[in-house]
Amino acid sequence: MALMACPECKTEISDKAKACPSCGSPRRHSPSGAGKLLGWGGVALLGVVVLYYVVAANDPDREQRLKDQAAYEQCLVVKRANPGNSFARTACEYMKAAYVEKYHRQP
Ligand SMILES: [Zn+2]
Repeated sequence: MALMACPECKTEISDKAKACPSCGSPRRHSPSGAGKLLGWGGVALLGVVVLYYVVAANDPDREQRLKDQAAYEQCLVVKRANPGNSFARTACEYMKAAYVEKYHRQP
């Protein structure tokens, strides 16, 4: 178990503690933890986008193509924010392949 300094009173507390036993200050989430949470939110959103993309895939027109392109670009944003996430990576590859097959051009 690792020790870390309380952000309020600097007492050494366990990194597993939810609050400081000395001053009662709730331990803040580490930036990496918050980033991970945000990343999973992005991945969940991406799941919705992919679902929408699959449902919309049978109706190709220009307006739809621009939406598909925007969805793919959104996918890339999520992928960049989650470089280790294989779902985001696979989803982007799938979306790009589907886009190329449908419109015969790169997104
Ligand atoms: Zn404290």
